[in-house]
Amino acid sequence: MLHELPKAYDPTAIEDHWAGYWVREKLFAVPTPDPATTSVQNQGLDAQSAFVILLPPPNVTGRLHMGHMLNQTEMDILTRWRRMSGRLALWVPGTDHAGIATQMMVERQLTEEGTSRQTLGREAFVERVWAWKRHYGGAILEQMKRLGVSVDWSREYFTMDERLSLAVREAFVRLYAQGLIYRGAYIVNWCPRCQTAISDLEVVHQEQKGHLWEIRYPVLGDGGKETGEFITVATTRPETMLGDTAVAIHPEDERYLHLHGKKLRLPLMDREIPIVVDPWVSREFGTGAVKVTPAHDPNDFAIGERHHLPSVNVMDDRAHINENGGPYQGLDRYVARKKIVADLEAQGLLVAVKDYTNNVGHCDRCKTVVEPRLSTQWFIKIQPLAEKAIAAVKPDANGNKAIRFTPENYEKIYLEWMTNIHDWCISRQLWWGHRIPAWHCAVCHKITVPEPGTTGDPSECAHCGSDKITQETDVLDTWFSSGLLPVSAFGWPNITPETRADFDAFYPTSLLVTGFDILFFWVARMIMLGCWFAGDVPMPDGSPRPPTETVPFREVYIHALVRDANREKMSKTKGNVVDPIEIVKQYGTDAVRFTLASMASPGTDIAFNVARTEGYRAFANKIWNAARFIFMNVDRHLEQTRGFMHYGPIDLETVDRRNAVLIGYPANPNAPRADDSNSPIEHRWIISRLYGIAAAVNGALEDYRFDEAANVIYQFFWGDFCDWYLEIVKLHLDPDKPDSPEKLMALLVLLVVFESSLRMLSPFMPFLTEELWHAYYDGRPPVKSIALMPYPRSETLVCDDDAESAMALLKSLITEVRALRKEIGVEEKAVVPIAVRTDADSRKIAEENSDIIERLTRVSEVRFVDQIAAGLSKHSTPQFDVAVIYERTIDVAAERERLTKDIARYEKGLAAAERQLGNEAFLAKAPAHVVEGLKKQEAETRLLLEKARAALRALPESS
Ligand SMILES: [Zn+2]
Ligand SMILES: [Zn+2]
Repeated sequence: MLHELPKAYDPTAIEDHWAGYWVREKLFAVPTPDPATTSVQNQGLDAQSAFVILLPPPNVTGRLHMGHMLNQTEMDILTRWRRMSGRLALWVPGTDHAGIATQMMVERQLTEEGTSRQTLGREAFVERVWAWKRHYGGAILEQMKRLGVSVDWSREYFTMDERLSLAVREAFVRLYAQGLIYRGAYIVNWCPRCQTAISDLEVVHQEQKGHLWEIRYPVLGDGGKETGEFITVATTRPETMLGDTAVAIHPEDERYLHLHGKKLRLPLMDREIPIVVDPWVSREFGTGAVKVTPAHDPNDFAIGERHHLPSVNVMDDRAHINENGGPYQGLDRYVARKKIVADLEAQGLLVAVKDYTNNVGHCDRCKTVVEPRLSTQWFIKIQPLAEKAIAAVKPDANGNKAIRFTPENYEKIYLEWMTNIHDWCISRQLWWGHRIPAWHCAVCHKITVPEPGTTGDPSECAHCGSDKITQETDVLDTWFSSGLLPVSAFGWPNITPETRADFDAFYPTSLLVTGFDILFFWVARMIMLGCWFAGDVPMPDGSPRPPTETVPFREVYIHALVRDANREKMSKTKGNVVDPIEIVKQYGTDAVRFTLASMASPGTDIAFNVARTEGYRAFANKIWNAARFIFMNVDRHLEQTRGFMHYGPIDLETVDRRNAVLIGYPANPNAPRADDSNSPIEHRWIISRLYGIAAAVNGALEDYRFDEAANVIYQFFWGDFCDWYLEIVKLHLDPDKPDSPEKLMALLVLLVVFESSLRMLSPFMPFLTEELWHAYYDGRPPVKSIALMPYPRSETLVCDDDAESAMALLKSLITEVRALRKEIGVEEKAVVPIAVRTDADSRKIAEENSDIIERLTRVSEVRFVDQIAAGLSKHSTPQFDVAVIYERTIDVAAERERLTKDIARYEKGLAAAERQLGNEAFLAKAPAHVVEGLKKQEAETRLLLEKARAALRALPESS
């Protein structure tokens, strides 16, 4: 045996082997283009030829989940496909330092050890996190390797790497120098557990049963005396009333017109607060009067700004009442709430307590209820960045877009968000992360931020020269660093003549594949920061970079969610989470990848069903067995002829006599060509089908229709190739027959189509195809991996329509004969003649290929007749009538029943088609090919109906 292939397909063994091989051999590494030949064009690289994709960096604490698996399967299919299609494909992996998640992970460890981050101190704590990272971090990358992702591991980054940290610092100091970073008091989402501000996007809203407390605030008259009138306000957080600085009403609310300009007494605090009129207040909601707590609610903060109200912060970092809370100082927010409600009740100021379900914001990390709270933070003035980020996505005057979204509806969602964007709070009160490069002066209290382009830390205040300066303790939001990745991964800000080769070759990247959940978090920020900073980098030829070249990527593909088999969202609480690693262990990576691909199309969620994975595992098995069959025949042939048979890299275009030479067939200008119109129909047909599906697969992948691509390949390989072609080609491979040109041609076509199919399948099932492809070349492959071979394309050759329609006829005839045999109970092994009535053209095809019909249906003879004899059970299609001649009287009653059923079915189909074709509205809207198809179908059904009626009439009266 020349081609060693184990009998059974065992994904575990082959997948581990090849996963290691791809990494070890650095097969997917794309080195920095040689700066000696600086012109990118010189190396055959241009914007069109490089395909660059960044991995959305998983958290360094992360573990692979089904969303990653889908995301990475899609990216890997596209990258492998582009690479095989001749593009310089670069996929850059890395991990995110994930500020809050990582800090929490290590803090939890410290708690178990009976210590804490505070006890350790900042420096030791940060060192401890690094130690954790070195030890446990990046496990997800190892899981990715197991999935076979074709990334360039030599370019792996970590967002806290020195190189990327430099980019973070430079971005900050440049924005500061440009006046786009400021420090200010603002309402932030405060997590009292993590003791840091968190972004809006890190807050999870959950419905929670609570109460709505209605409280009376006494109206004050002249001289500050209570008039006996009250305004009732409602709140879900009564403890915040300690910080109320006004009550607001709608200017046109008639209930309160007489109170404009009046004041109220804030209960419990005995503070006078004004009544302000603001059109933001809804008259319909509650009493139409709202308490205003600028320091604890974003809407109230805005009212406060409009009316110049003071902001009174009543809580500390742990959400305990602070010195501004009068008698409640020191109490936890919920303890204070109870006491406040009790005190109000005692004073007769509590009107009602109603059950109320509202959306409460929780910290995404630790699930603590978030406290909106005024605090001093660092912000980016977002407007000028947002403008560029909008221009990058909006179509220009010619309808061109610098960044294209798929599915397209995300463009609108993005633009809406970007248009209504608020300044971005970039500071986090954490220790793990990029510490803000700003120094506070103890003497003049001003801030010193280093100059752009410098690297050292300042030693004295830039304003008063004092050396009593200390660095800001806050760190930057994690998304600030990941937002810079497209520029920083390729060398920004350190763009020197030496380092610019990467940037020139790979920026802008080609595509971003990600989930909707980080569209604003990450995608939007990469666009803002990329468009802002890449503008400073000239084009390779030294000219200024036009806006369309500043974008971080040219395309964004937003993938769908993976849900469970019942279309429910996967969640730990529901217990329906599918662990991709477990499924991979059970069925093999290739089967899981194929499952995801077969269901992935833009905008459609995936209902992950293990039954489908089982099916694709069977598909992998089918491919394996086909390989074994082919190799067995090739090897037998070699032994028989003792011939030299080297079938090196064969491309589809070379399925001709040149290839015949390659496989040892004597060069002979008269030798038959597989794609000649004289050569056997099955060869012509399978080659034509291969071209057809190559076109379909390439087209589907261009449009991110992974499902279509996968299904087309599946149907081709299982249906056309295995079920039909392999069965037919056995005719030529009879080991008892001597070597012949026909046998060689059959082997050749078999090999070529099989090898091409492996290449076509490779991006979807990289492991199985790699294994079989190496076996195919018998350990002497032309290149190191199938992933480096060209992807089948169909541009150069056209499909063979004659062969396809002839095969369609043969397949239909064979299918009908098989069905007939079953119906009339022909024994499995019996060889019987058939009678066929058909037109001259079809007859010619059937005659020429009677050996195929005979072999595939156990037919002894094909008799062509003008009329199927009465009494024979027959099947009819628009092209032919066929009957199996079998020595057995037919069951007239059963036959009558069958025909009656057929007639009813045809009548129904005909009526439906006629109805549709009579529908003017439908005809006006339907595409021409649909209408054509419908007309054809109508004509065919009519013919079948007539034939069935005639057959019924021809039946004997009774049996
Ligand atoms: Zn938290
Ligand atoms: Zn100073």
